[in-house]
Amino acid sequence: MTGHTTRRAFMSSAAAIPLLRGAGVLATGFGCAIPAGASQPAPAPAPAGQAQDGKRVTLLYFTDTHAQLETHPEYVPGGSPEIQMMGGYARLKTAIEQERRNRDGACFLLDGGDEFQGSGPAAWSEGEVVLEPLKAFGLDAFVPGNWEAAYGPERFKQTMSRLNCPVICYNLHDEASGERLFRPSIIIERDGVKAAFVGITDVGASRRQPPVQFRGMDTRRIEGLRDFIKDLRAREQPDLVVAISHTGLSISRQMAREIQELDVVLSAHTHERTMREIMEGQVIVIEPGCFGSFLGRLDIVLKPGGVASHKFRLIPILPSQYGEDTRMKALVDRSLAPYRARMEQAAGTTETLLMRYDVLETTADNFITDAVRDIAKSDIGFSNGFRFGVPIPPSVFTQADLWSLLPMDARMKSGWVTGAELRTYLENELELVFSKDPWKLNGGWGVRASGLSIVFKASAEPGHRLISVKVGGQDVEDQRRYTIAGCERDGEPVDVVCRHPGTHDARVLPLTLHEALKEHLAMHPVIGPRRGDREIATDLPRIVFSQDAALAGGDLSKAPTTPSGLPG
Ligand SMILES: [Zn+2]
Repeated sequence: MTGHTTRRAFMSSAAAIPLLRGAGVLATGFGCAIPAGASQPAPAPAPAGQAQDGKRVTLLYFTDTHAQLETHPEYVPGGSPEIQMMGGYARLKTAIEQERRNRDGACFLLDGGDEFQGSGPAAWSEGEVVLEPLKAFGLDAFVPGNWEAAYGPERFKQTMSRLNCPVICYNLHDEASGERLFRPSIIIERDGVKAAFVGITDVGASRRQPPVQFRGMDTRRIEGLRDFIKDLRAREQPDLVVAISHTGLSISRQMAREIQELDVVLSAHTHERTMREIMEGQVIVIEPGCFGSFLGRLDIVLKPGGVASHKFRLIPILPSQYGEDTRMKALVDRSLAPYRARMEQAAGTTETLLMRYDVLETTADNFITDAVRDIAKSDIGFSNGFRFGVPIPPSVFTQADLWSLLPMDARMKSGWVTGAELRTYLENELELVFSKDPWKLNGGWGVRASGLSIVFKASAEPGHRLISVKVGGQDVEDQRRYTIAGCERDGEPVDVVCRHPGTHDARVLPLTLHEALKEHLAMHPVIGPRRGDREIATDLPRIVFSQDAALAGGDLSKAPTTPSGLPG
């Protein structure tokens, strides 16, 4: 415990990395209109710039904080140190208010979703700990992410109804009636600007998430979106049309290519950091990372019918730049108070950095899948390609750290597959990560495994990517049986193990995943997982932090996104 506290204290005082230094400095020379927050006393006066040239709009945007309410370790490669303390709702709030004050024109604050899941306290309270702090940001619109329904459809609807801002989503329907659960869009007129916001959530969520989560809800009905946006434009004549898209950067970009009637796409879901904006024709696409470590700010000067000019900044939320907003800090502390003792319980010690930012092999999943294989005594241990979980630096780690990596518990399952079935499964999984058609991408990060090593070509045709598959260091034989273990996903058939359908002799094991980890850590009080050769793509760099970069053929210079945090 002490080591843990010391580690955090050390990191919060670490020198700012050169890459980030100054990046959070406020723009100067703007007018100082009153922020748009609920607690503001009077309507904002028309900013001076408004009358002189085009109308001005500032979009402030964050997403995918995954219930990381407090300042936490964050990874910024190339920096020194590479692990920085960043984020936290109280610092994010300070940054938002500062940026709101330093703007010239209408200002809107948007949230791209995946806020209520991703930490131990969020899991233990079914998202309750996030609600009051999130409300205190003064959001203008919220789009539900694929993990918003983590605690089931009823809890999801209840939580959404308790938000203090409009929830918008074009493609979330009641499965039976086909009725939308939320309005698809909202028009906000503020400070002389009429802005339209359209919400889109992860199209594959109702098919891919554990079945009980989206029971009775359907995210797949995306057809007609372009006509809807064209109609909206014709009918409402907004100054600006913004899509808030919890679909991942690759699909957001595709959406922008296909729907040039949009002005801006605020992307979410894949946790990617666009260090600068991406232009798809005339459409601006951005994604501001995750965990509240960054705030996206897009300043736009309008002309009739669209955007005259714009400027984007990805603002790092560093303790050296932003103090904690007192009111937000109090809300977070109050939320977390009942869970502090459980959060701070020591869980284990790691000698290596536990991280889950890579598209393929990660140290965090090597640890988890080793534990799964170890406890289940199987040939292969699997884990889903989850994205959540902030980095855990080498030190003692706590239950809070562990639950940020696995913010749910589930029973474990095991069974066996033939070598041929294993290959088919892996080919299908690779297609979900590397499909040339962005709309076919589903999930995003590859499935993680212990006991298995694969070599493949990411850019090969579907079904033909694998070059070699080894189990326990031996080439897989088509007819041979291999035992596999993974976790149960609520509501799916028993023969599905970690998305593998048709698993033979599948059975539920007596232990849950967290119980298995506890047992594993009791036997291995000090762990030190390293990246090895579990998943190697012959046409990608050894470390790829972006699916989008991967789809650009692994040539990071061709991929405008640098989610790793490398300067663009
Ligand atoms: Zn998501």
